[in-house]
Amino acid sequence: MNNDGLRPVGSADRTVTMYDTTLRDGMQGIQVNYTLDDKIKIAHALDDMKIDYIEGGFPLSNEKEAAFFKQIRRENLHHASVVAFGSTRKAGGSAERDPMIRALLDAETPAVIVVGKTWKAHVEYVLQTDEEENLRMIFDSIHFLKSQGREVFFDLEHFFDGYKDDPEYARRVLRAGSDAGADCLVLCDTNGGTLPQEVASIMQALPQRELAPLGGHFHNDGGVAIANSMAAVDNGAGHIQGTVNGWGERTGNANLCTFIPNIVLKTDYHANCADRLDHLTHLSRFVAEKANIIPDRRQPYVGDASFSHKAGQHADVIGKAAHLMEHIDSRLVGNERHIVLSELAGKSTVVEKLREYGDYTKSSPVVEELTKLLKQKENDGYEYEAAEASFDLLVRRALELYRPLVKLRNYHLESYKTADAPSKTVGRIFLQLDQHELMGAAVCVGPVDTLDHALRDALVPVFPWLERITLTDFRVRVLNPESGAAARVRVFVTYSDHERSWDTVGVNENIVEASWEALIDAIEFYYNTVVLEERKPELSGTAT
Ligand SMILES: [Zn+2]
Repeated sequence: MNNDGLRPVGSADRTVTMYDTTLRDGMQGIQVNYTLDDKIKIAHALDDMKIDYIEGGFPLSNEKEAAFFKQIRRENLHHASVVAFGSTRKAGGSAERDPMIRALLDAETPAVIVVGKTWKAHVEYVLQTDEEENLRMIFDSIHFLKSQGREVFFDLEHFFDGYKDDPEYARRVLRAGSDAGADCLVLCDTNGGTLPQEVASIMQALPQRELAPLGGHFHNDGGVAIANSMAAVDNGAGHIQGTVNGWGERTGNANLCTFIPNIVLKTDYHANCADRLDHLTHLSRFVAEKANIIPDRRQPYVGDASFSHKAGQHADVIGKAAHLMEHIDSRLVGNERHIVLSELAGKSTVVEKLREYGDYTKSSPVVEELTKLLKQKENDGYEYEAAEASFDLLVRRALELYRPLVKLRNYHLESYKTADAPSKTVGRIFLQLDQHELMGAAVCVGPVDTLDHALRDALVPVFPWLERITLTDFRVRVLNPESGAAARVRVFVTYSDHERSWDTVGVNENIVEASWEALIDAIEFYYNTVVLEERKPELSGTAT
């Protein structure tokens, strides 16, 4: 990349190896949990992204971890090497007989990573041994694993803190790993508090020519895990560890979904995953789906908001010269541009939104009509910024492209609670589909869930595709609380089909009715934009 005559950073002859620890360090994050099946699927997604190394976990820690290694051996990965994680041998023991080292070998992976202490205080308090024995533990463990034909990475735990405490000892730790034959010395900022300037100055002070190649592993406690990873690369690291979406212990690890495009698009370093960059947004959302965590919209590159533009004037510029308002083309990372509607939205925003349906101008009658409708809806409390799917249905109705799914005849909900049992909601729904009446019923905890389940109960036999989509989020906002009980509520719902997600909005004085409006919009949106699109080839009946 070379634009505007500015010299790119980085040098073309160096490759940055991408090492993913989503399945080990990533699982230390709060709310993050994967089943064995999830882990296998995530490993395939990482392999598909051409990530170089996938750390599979800690084979000694539990059955699930050991089972992962057993199963992944039978899977056909095309690019990535699987890595087993463990620590150096115990103090006073031998590497050959150490259960940790044995477990690493039993994982039968082409590569292993061994974590060892760099910070003297940890040697004393955690290992409860002396500095010389710690160096022998490091040397013996790596040396033995190398003799068994493994590629061996050495994770220098607390490297930067240890270096600040005693640079000489940190250098001896590096040398022990290097002399033992480690393929990479991974400098870890385990507590995540080091700043990029410190990473740079410490790395510049190392005798890099005398050592094995360096790598970096950064946590985000100072909010600079990416900056630290970039600084490490600029100062000699050829291997960076991180996780998808940056999820990991405490505030997380370096986010590979940010680091990878930074390296590929903004430096001259080489990365093997460069030609898979457009898979990145999918990878981010796939892992979020498996973790059952709503993806962070504001995440760089892969977030929903990364290429979202609001307000009339701005949208006008986007239509004419996108590069003036975006740092990269969203398609490079598999993301897409969104023109967000707001109260400030002018006709140019509507024109921009309509672009996918055809060439409209500010004077097109449908643009006039939609702009007016939008103003009126916004006065009523609707907000389409976070509910693009509802807006899409408005557009489809205006353009007469909308196909209704079913007609509501009535729904009926009843909440009840007894003194010693949790509350429940019973619901029934009656719908009209052509000449038929459909009925559905459900008992759930809350009214929205009940409505969603009753609707499915009625419709799934006729529309089995409904099983592909699920309600993943529900948010309520009271609009005019000063009017007490008559306050209106705005409900947003998010649905997902495990590939993409979409949001809709409903507004009413009755929370159940507002929810119903959002629910049916979400389902009709999917019907109109995905289900009917899929059916197009069969409907037209032509062979291609
Ligand atoms: Zn870590």
